Amino acid sequence: MDADLVIVGAGLFGLTVAQQAAEKAGAKVEIIDVRSHIGGNAYSYTDEDTGAEIHKYGAHLFHTSNPTVWKYVNRFTEFTDYVHRVYTTHDGEVYPLPINLGTINQFFHAHYTPAEAKALIESQAGELAGTDPTNLNDKGISLIGRPLYEAFIKNYTAKQWQTDPSELPASIIRRLPVRFTYDNRYFRDTWEGLPKDGYTAWMTRMIADPRIHVTLNTDFFDESQPLNRRALVGRVPIVYTGPVDRYFDYELGELKWRTVDFTEVRYDEGDHFGCPVMNFADADVPYTRAIEFKNFNPERRDRQNPDRTVVWQEYSRFASRDDEPYYPVNTADDHALYQRYAAKAKAEPMVLFGGRLGTYAYYDMHNVIGSALNAYEHQVGPLLRSRREAAGD
Ligand code: FAD
Ligand code: UDP
Repeated sequence: MDADLVIVGAGLFGLTVAQQAAEKAGAKVEIIDVRSHIGGNAYSYTDEDTGAEIHKYGAHLFHTSNPTVWKYVNRFTEFTDYVHRVYTTHDGEVYPLPINLGTINQFFHAHYTPAEAKALIESQAGELAGTDPTNLNDKGISLIGRPLYEAFIKNYTAKQWQTDPSELPASIIRRLPVRFTYDNRYFRDTWEGLPKDGYTAWMTRMIADPRIHVTLNTDFFDESQPLNRRALVGRVPIVYTGPVDRYFDYELGELKWRTVDFTEVRYDEGDHFGCPVMNFADADVPYTRAIEFKNFNPERRDRQNPDRTVVWQEYSRFASRDDEPYYPVNTADDHALYQRYAAKAKAEPMVLFGGRLGTYAYYDMHNVIGSALNAYEHQVGPLLRSRREAAGD
């Protein structure tokens, strides 16, 4: 092994640091991943039956307002003009989200102006005026009023957390956006879109450099293979993007995550929902939402099967150690535990902990790329240069 840098995890954090190290420092980089593919959770593949691009670890929509990140990602892919919009089914009707004037007028069978709708929601939210809600249920009512809260938030949130909202802490929601216009664009960022040839093509191009080598199906903690923790730590700079508690053999305890189970359903029709994401607000549908992947890429209609479609239904639950960790639960206890792991991580010789698992954080893709560019600039790059100088190169 003659690499200048070893990266554990071929997700967007690891790939960005690898790309920068090869390009800016001419470093030889070895990336390992326990999975059989690169891309981490942003990996996708084409479904032969329908022609849909399936996001294997859940729907991924790229959006950012960070010009540095937008410029960087555009070096490796073009983006489609996809604009994310979500709908929800409640009591046999489909409504637009986030809750906006269209949702409100449909729900109340009314034609309120923005000011009238605002006054109505304020008066309904006033039900709990003067109280300090401690549970999510009361907090939701105090933010948007009982009718909208019970229709669109209560049961969805209960499914997502597998817990009645009256038993969830109010701190989980700080705000529930309500728009008093008909704007139902989901994201507010300057740029959004989907990679024109798919996520995997984008990420493959990031590491198309002869100095970068990838070894898949390889676990950093498996000492029967040479690229393992015991053999490498302290000998070569390492960027570690796996779970921080796993790195320390869970010695302080386990950080809690939620995961998502997907159930695939195939239909003998070209389009099942007429949109890519349909949420289900009611308790009688056991899943939270359904993703119809074909509809993320209407520009590919000529390459998709006009008679078939595929939908993934999402079931959210708490993760055990063997599940894919998706969303940090992030209670006050988790946060305190992470701080203790972070202190240990800082003391590891020549190991930089990064990405969503390495820092126990929910990051969108643009956040992860931005933080990886920063980590290269301020930590990995200087370390590679100082080692090179010390070696007299
Ligand atoms: P990861 O992608 O998780 O990569 C870490 C890699 O490390 C993995 O490939 C893993 O196999 C590997 N690894 C772990 N342990 C080991 C080990 N012991 N040995 C070797 N390899 C190891 N972001 C958006 O911007 N828009 C979205 O719409 C969006 N939707 C999302 C939906 C879901 C369900 C989830 C979970 C995330 C979503 N994200 C979204 C966030 C996005 O997935 C992350 O920002 C990004 O993928 C994180 O990259 P990463 O490199 O930090 O981690
Ligand atoms: N939410 C809800 N109803 C919906 C969509 C969202 O109640 O139809 C609430 C729910 O509590 C959820 C939170 O808003 O946990 C964030 O949802 P979003 O879809 O924005 O994020 P994600 O689930 O993808 O993290």
